[in-house]
Amino acid sequence: MNTTVVKSSMYDTVMRQFNQIADNINLDQNIRKILEATTNEIVVHFPVKLDNGTVKIFTGYRVQHNNVLGPYKGGLRYHPTLDIEDAKALAMWMTWKTALAGLPYGGAKGGIQLNPREYSMAELERISRRFTYALGENIGPEYDIPAPDVNTNEQTMAWIADTYMSTKPAAERSCHKHVVTGKPVGTGGLEGRDRSTGYGVYLTIKLWYQNKNENLKGKTFIVQGYGNVGYWVSHFLTQDGAVLLAVQDAHATLYNQDGIDAENLREHSKPLQGSIKGFSGAVEMPAEDFMGLSCDVLIPAALGNQITADNAYAIKAELVAEGANGPTDVEGERILRDRNIAIIPDILCNSGGVIGSYFEWLQNRNGEIWTMDEVMDKLERKLTEVFKKVANIAKEEDLDWRSAAYILAISRIETAYKQRGIFP
Ligand code: GLU
Repeated sequence: MNTTVVKSSMYDTVMRQFNQIADNINLDQNIRKILEATTNEIVVHFPVKLDNGTVKIFTGYRVQHNNVLGPYKGGLRYHPTLDIEDAKALAMWMTWKTALAGLPYGGAKGGIQLNPREYSMAELERISRRFTYALGENIGPEYDIPAPDVNTNEQTMAWIADTYMSTKPAAERSCHKHVVTGKPVGTGGLEGRDRSTGYGVYLTIKLWYQNKNENLKGKTFIVQGYGNVGYWVSHFLTQDGAVLLAVQDAHATLYNQDGIDAENLREHSKPLQGSIKGFSGAVEMPAEDFMGLSCDVLIPAALGNQITADNAYAIKAELVAEGANGPTDVEGERILRDRNIAIIPDILCNSGGVIGSYFEWLQNRNGEIWTMDEVMDKLERKLTEVFKKVANIAKEEDLDWRSAAYILAISRIETAYKQRGIFP
């Protein structure tokens, strides 16, 4: 049979997920209307002088979905395919994620449509600074707080913080440090923020197995994406005796049945701007065979809509742990459910990052310095508490975990609207 599968957009995925849950829980019609809409969609076009002297116009986005629970919060990504629809979808997922974790935040997301590999560090610095300037008062430490996301890192955050603070009167500059989170430790960043997303993915997998009275020793896993999330989750899982069988990124797919050394692969990929290609501790295999590899856990930790009707039938893992935002589309999810493959949904699985961000924000706001041990301990406790709540709802209501997580998140938002009412 010759069928054409139309790939859905991330926006389509997030809206379909939301509508399903809103129907299931009979969400108040007025609140449903509010949550379907994004509050602010900011698009900026700004000029930057390139190293060769020419000027290029870049397009940046910041979508603020909802702030009923607190300031807008969410990352900035630099990617050639980023557009306003993606930013809207990702902002909505942030609203659910922060609500689920019980943080005093709303949801936002944004970034710049560009391929960072095409620019020098000096150009990326000027682009990041000019973008910050263009966003102006659309971001702020008590209003909208960006963080790292795909292809941005602590260096990007340091440039953004410095630029934002430079626009303030000298006497109050240091009070604005928490305009972004995910900064380098030397400039107000949090010990452990770099690993907090990957740690959270690892911890939720570990807790999922604990629920079945099993541990991680000898479990096999495969990871799509070897950026910050992909590396750190591999680091923690292999430390507990799990075996990293395969890694895929945009440039190569690597396999080693005896296990890939997560640290050596990190060392190899760093100077290549994150590419795993050419690593000698594994063999290269065809990209299209990656999802169908036999393993216990599949961890998509790259971009959205990777698990679809095209490949969901081939997946052999018993658990999909969503390190990325929106990696499974609605059709893909239906197939996984029919096949009894469990999913730890993104808004739970990768929420360690924004929980770490919250700790950094508190640290800056209160003028404190937290130690790595304190951070990791608080992160573990917070995530375990959220995990247990989701697991309980799933069990009591006989639901999949995404529905359980959405119910918890959306009911918190619903309560806030019911208590506050709608102005005027
Ligand atoms: N970009 C991360 C996410 O998607 C972190 C966001 C944040 O810390 O604000 O969850």
